[in-house]
Amino acid sequence: MPQHAQNTPVCRDCDGFATAAITTGTRHTDGTRGTLTVTCPTCKGTGHRVPAAGLTHVGR
Ligand SMILES: [Zn+2]
Repeated sequence: MPQHAQNTPVCRDCDGFATAAITTGTRHTDGTRGTLTVTCPTCKGTGHRVPAAGLTHVGR
């Protein structure tokens, strides 16, 4: 039976889209558009949820 549970933890901040190219609207002299690549600071561009250090307690 189908299960929709995700085995791979996806970053909840960017929903898996870690990097996004944003057009600035300006054009370079060679005709290409200026783009800014924004990387998600939460997962640092991996797109996966990074377990925060100190929140997981193993053992006692
Ligand atoms: Zn992210």
